[in-house]
Amino acid sequence: MTDKIRVICWNEFRHEKKPGIIQTIYPNGIHEAIADALRKEPDMDVKTAWLDQKEHGLTEKVLDNTDVLIWWGHGAHDEVKDEIVDRIQDHVLNGMGFIALHSSHFSKPFKRLMGTSGSLQWRERAEKCHVWCVNPYHPIAKGLDDVIEIAHEEMYGEFFDIPEPDSLVFISWFEGGEVFRSGCTWHRGKGKIFYFQPGHESFPNYYQPEIQKVIVNAVRWCKFDGSTQTRHIGVCPNAKFTLNILSNPSEREEDFM
Ligand code: ZN
Repeated sequence: MTDKIRVICWNEFRHEKKPGIIQTIYPNGIHEAIADALRKEPDMDVKTAWLDQKEHGLTEKVLDNTDVLIWWGHGAHDEVKDEIVDRIQDHVLNGMGFIALHSSHFSKPFKRLMGTSGSLQWRERAEKCHVWCVNPYHPIAKGLDDVIEIAHEEMYGEFFDIPEPDSLVFISWFEGGEVFRSGCTWHRGKGKIFYFQPGHESFPNYYQPEIQKVIVNAVRWCKFDGSTQTRHIGVCPNAKFTLNILSNPSEREEDFM
């Protein structure tokens, strides 16, 4: 048993297998680029998984031993099996953190956890992007400046069909004038969820130190830190009547006087 935060970086890992710009930028896959950044953190134990592995690399045993699952999906959302989505949702409700990156706004696990379409408007035009921190007191913003400037990013714009976030940490501005809620948190059951927009596959943005810093902070925030880890959500337990204070009449008197 490790005290480290056990992280899985999951990726479709399809774009990077075809020769071209994406393979040049991420020769070992986006998941490995993100994992490499996280492996520099002494408190993290980082593994990877991808779509074409058996059970997408996310067996019950793997998820039982995962504190935070990071998800990058794009063109093959529909190939993710529903039974694995069920499994991910169950683990999130029971305390596993989930970080959805970039085009994962349309992934099955994210849509399941949100209960909305995850739809937004987009434009692929290599625009300048400014990621503004609008909640500097949030742990995910720790150590970051007011704004992260990204040279080129795909534009994502409103309306972003998500439930009202518990915390809005970042809002992005794009060169074309649009703004977007680019860093949002939610709770589902005992699990914490973070969505973060940067990370289009044909730009090297996961190598940018500030982007890596956001993901590192998000992993630490998403790890379940409650004391009831073993209590299962979703089983509707029958509670015994144990108000012992009422069993002693003298205590009862003192208590209500
Ligand atoms: Zn994209």
